[in-house]
Amino acid sequence: MSAPGLAELLERAEALYLDYRLGAVKEWKQRTGGLAIGYMPIYAPRELLHAQGVLPVGLMGGRDDLEIIKGDAYYQSYICHIPRSTIELGLNGSLDALDGMLFPAICDVIRNLSGIWQMQFPDKLSHYLDLPQDFDPEMGGKFYRQDLEHLSELLVQRGARPLTAEALAHSIELYNAERREVQALYELRRLQPWKVPTHELYLVLRAALVLPVEESTAMFRQYHEAVAADQARKPVDQARVVLTGSFCEQPPLGLIKTLERAGCSIVDDDFVQVHRFIRSDIPASDDPLGALVNAFLTDGMASPTRYVDRGRKGDELVQRTKACGAEGLLFCAPSFCDPALLDQPMLVRAVEAEGVPWTAFKYSENSGQFQVIREQAGTFADSIKLWSNA
Ligand code: SF4
Repeated sequence: MSAPGLAELLERAEALYLDYRLGAVKEWKQRTGGLAIGYMPIYAPRELLHAQGVLPVGLMGGRDDLEIIKGDAYYQSYICHIPRSTIELGLNGSLDALDGMLFPAICDVIRNLSGIWQMQFPDKLSHYLDLPQDFDPEMGGKFYRQDLEHLSELLVQRGARPLTAEALAHSIELYNAERREVQALYELRRLQPWKVPTHELYLVLRAALVLPVEESTAMFRQYHEAVAADQARKPVDQARVVLTGSFCEQPPLGLIKTLERAGCSIVDDDFVQVHRFIRSDIPASDDPLGALVNAFLTDGMASPTRYVDRGRKGDELVQRTKACGAEGLLFCAPSFCDPALLDQPMLVRAVEAEGVPWTAFKYSENSGQFQVIREQAGTFADSIKLWSNA
């Protein structure tokens, strides 16, 4: 079968992104008879699920087309939006295809969501994935390994096959291949941002969340080949910016398009981090579970949800900004996102010390109006171009 053309591929990616009811997951379950387990941002050990024949399904809340009827009743008004939309999707039956949910320990909101989930959906697997904040193999490593072994048992109790070292080693290879494809796309965008508009890349990253890794890897590869070969895409004179803060609740697609139309070429970002959270290949090992644990301990992305035990908050952002030749920084965080907004002053201090221009704004996943952000980002991009031409 020939690879889809670019328009066809993007059309499919958009359909997957828009499908609240997880039609692709239902289709996979019918075809394979396997379990499907949802996970919240920003990191989940997808390799382990895959090795047990389980489909990991990334959930990233809602958009502005999701009416929140019951979800607001579970939370106070001054927190982010993603838990409300996730509850809404659970209660309205959109997530019925899932046999369970993983809630990675990234903030109190997700912790509370996991508790609500256990009460609302007692028949489904609901696991709070207690990601360690201690990166010593003898402490955090042992703790995390025990949690993964416990999760593996819970999956077996639900009908998944037992975990074997051979299966896990194979799954790690598959996810290594996916990570390499995603990293290659980020690299192409860094070098030729006009070839890889971020609103397209974002759609493909979102679509991949509901696909088995074999299919998502192929989709990333096909998208890469299609845009690299597209001679109609010409360089544009826009400000090169890094966008940071959007690691959990995701911005509406319209916001990303607005930033691009306002003159910003996004050359690095925090979107849909699960595809890149582990930064390099997980090495082959006689103990693949140990390798998976070690990758989390030693090779995870810097994130406001992760304790920095060495160095300084902001060092990684400065290094990333320099590495991609960015001319400015957009702090673009969800409203009321404690991890992002509490880190922001430290990050600002670090980038200001390097003379990197920045601007900041907030969004909600259901924001529908972007005029103010368009003006702010447009002014920022214009001022960068003026300064760089001075
Ligand atoms: S958006 Fe921020 S505060 Fe809300 S669940 Fe995600 S990390 Fe937590």
